[in-house]
Amino acid sequence: MKEQQRKSALQVNSGVEQPSNVNAESVKHIREKRKNKIIANDYTKEILKGNRTILSQAITLVESTLPEHQNLSREIVEACLLHSGNSIRIGISGVPGVGKSTFIEAFGKQLTKQGYKLAVLAIDPSSEKSKGSILGDKTRMEDLANDPNAYIRPSPSSGTLGGVARKTREAIILCEAAGFNVIFVETVGVGQSETVVNHMVDMFLLLMLAGAGDELQGIKRGIMEMADIIAINKADGTNIKKAEIAATEYRNALHLFPANESGWIPQVVTCSAITNHGIIELAELTNQYFEKVKQSDYFKIRRNFQAKYWMYEVIFEKLKENFFNQPDIKSKLNEMEQKVLSGEISSVAAANIIVSKL
Ligand code: GDP
Repeated sequence: MKEQQRKSALQVNSGVEQPSNVNAESVKHIREKRKNKIIANDYTKEILKGNRTILSQAITLVESTLPEHQNLSREIVEACLLHSGNSIRIGISGVPGVGKSTFIEAFGKQLTKQGYKLAVLAIDPSSEKSKGSILGDKTRMEDLANDPNAYIRPSPSSGTLGGVARKTREAIILCEAAGFNVIFVETVGVGQSETVVNHMVDMFLLLMLAGAGDELQGIKRGIMEMADIIAINKADGTNIKKAEIAATEYRNALHLFPANESGWIPQVVTCSAITNHGIIELAELTNQYFEKVKQSDYFKIRRNFQAKYWMYEVIFEKLKENFFNQPDIKSKLNEMEQKVLSGEISSVAAANIIVSKL
């Protein structure tokens, strides 16, 4: 009988015991990942339809520091990535008071009038302290904010410049997936943030004032070198002549700079965000820039370079974060700090000891 049972196909084998080493954490992780994929798909569907409420919620997830939000936002960004990239990305910078928000409103309205769909994002290194000094104020760009073809998103207000930059880059992807085909990334003219913005846009537009002097405007030579277009703003009223003179001076100064890799010769124009002088011409010049860089393939080369650049930036950011968050590194840091301060050990030796704990 026993022999018969063993040969029968209906025989019930004793079950294989669940190995004790199946990690409950990894099971939870897999479940969470599956759940996130489903939720992310729902978000993505709505974003692709151009649902702004969902787009805003997704950007909020990107900006969140909660790990569960970060995991979900990563899935959403990955899903949207396939539908992104079809836009022109323009960095706009200038010192506070140069007229950035007024200009963005005037220039933005010109572009939406021409049928473009515009998203305005921002990188504001000062916002950590001031809780969002650019674009944080809802009354700014009121006209543009009410334009159905425009979407304005305040600057993420916390994190390191690198962290904020990652969030803005991901917001660009989400906005493009939502159908925005022109992206403005605004930043204040303080130096470092321009370089970061320049690594995520296709064209860099620098706003300047007449008669203020470079030093006064806090604009470093390196930033001027990045500019594809310099616009001398507030060229209205009694300021028109001064603006024209300043434009000539800047044109002369730009001749001294090395030629731009793109083959595009940086242009200097005057404009007024109040009277709209020069705004149509600026839109035309922007078109010419994109025609030129797309023809020469520079557009693609620059985007590829940026994709690689951001991969390394995220690696650096993550390594730093992981390293400094390790409890034993934290305590060792305290200990070494004291030793360095008391002169017991040199900074380099202390750093080597800490890094050797990796
Ligand atoms: P932001 O700090 O660079 O964003 O500058 P705002 O857009 O807030 O402008 C600062 C001030 O300059 C405001 O009082 C604006 O009204 C004024 N302004 C901006 N653009 C122009 C312009 O083209 N002409 C004149 N005359 N004033 C302007």
